[in-house]
Amino acid sequence: MEGVKLLIAKDRSIPKEIKIYEAIVRRLSVNHPRKVEFENKLFRKRAGYKGEKELDYHITQINHSKFTILHDIRIPHNDTHFQIDTLFISNSLMIPIDSKYYAGTLEFHPEFNQMIQYLNGSEKVYPDPILQTKIQARQLKAFLKSHQFFSPPLEPLVAITNSQALIKNPTQNKEVSQRVFKSPGIFYKINPYLEKYQKEIISDQEIKKVVKLLLKKNNPYIPDLKILNLPYGELQKGVECPACNTIGMEKFHSLWGCKKCGHTSKDAHVAALKDYFLINGQSITNGQFRDFLGISSVHQARRMLSQLDLNISGEKKGRVYTPGKRFPLWD
Ligand SMILES: [Zn+2]
Repeated sequence: MEGVKLLIAKDRSIPKEIKIYEAIVRRLSVNHPRKVEFENKLFRKRAGYKGEKELDYHITQINHSKFTILHDIRIPHNDTHFQIDTLFISNSLMIPIDSKYYAGTLEFHPEFNQMIQYLNGSEKVYPDPILQTKIQARQLKAFLKSHQFFSPPLEPLVAITNSQALIKNPTQNKEVSQRVFKSPGIFYKINPYLEKYQKEIISDQEIKKVVKLLLKKNNPYIPDLKILNLPYGELQKGVECPACNTIGMEKFHSLWGCKKCGHTSKDAHVAALKDYFLINGQSITNGQFRDFLGISSVHQARRMLSQLDLNISGEKKGRVYTPGKRFPLWD
């Protein structure tokens, strides 16, 4: 319909999980027994994100003038959340796309609700991604209904974003060939649905309202720090040198100096405070700040904290600082 142009209503940003794992990996010493575990988590998350960015690139290559696109939404619904990696909304249909960055040979068996991955000589069973994305679509529909929106037909798709993966459909299941694709093939998967559904079900105005509602309810995933069970006491404290990445810069008057490479910085402590918030949860006291950064003066610490965009609550020794709106926590 007229009026709806290419519109990325919500862009994709680096997942918060990646930021948190980066901080943990940075603060675990080379020989720490859990270093590899977090490096692996970080590697997997980064690979998945890279796959999604590649899919985004192929999305920009198609004529999507009919669609409004939202990336990466996570909506609370019925005591749980549903997550949609990419959502296309047009006047006549909605297409939620689930992205999977799986390596190896992927055999789809939707008749048994499973997918088998063959990789490096072993096999692993996963839930059927088509079923998963159908469940997400059903949850989206129910969510919109609960907010008095009537949704157009939903046609969920599954993107296999690892270009090295080999997709197999041994039972020649129709749904697999219709709904599963490699990123470069997105146009050819979407187009048949565009041709099938041409009747306008929702107006441009209603699309705007739906987008507004989804953006308002969006609640990005943050890993539960308690479940990660971090070895807090074993994480390296101190300010990291932005030049040589050595942790343990020292404060001389208004400057941080690196003993190893001689680099100086005025604001290297901001990154350290960010790490603290990412790893320990989003609040810090003057004492915790001094302990983590290696500062002895209460007054100096208070002055430094007051110069950052932090919210303050509590009085005197019970004073707690939390990141303010402009504090660059997720940058
Ligand atoms: Zn240095």
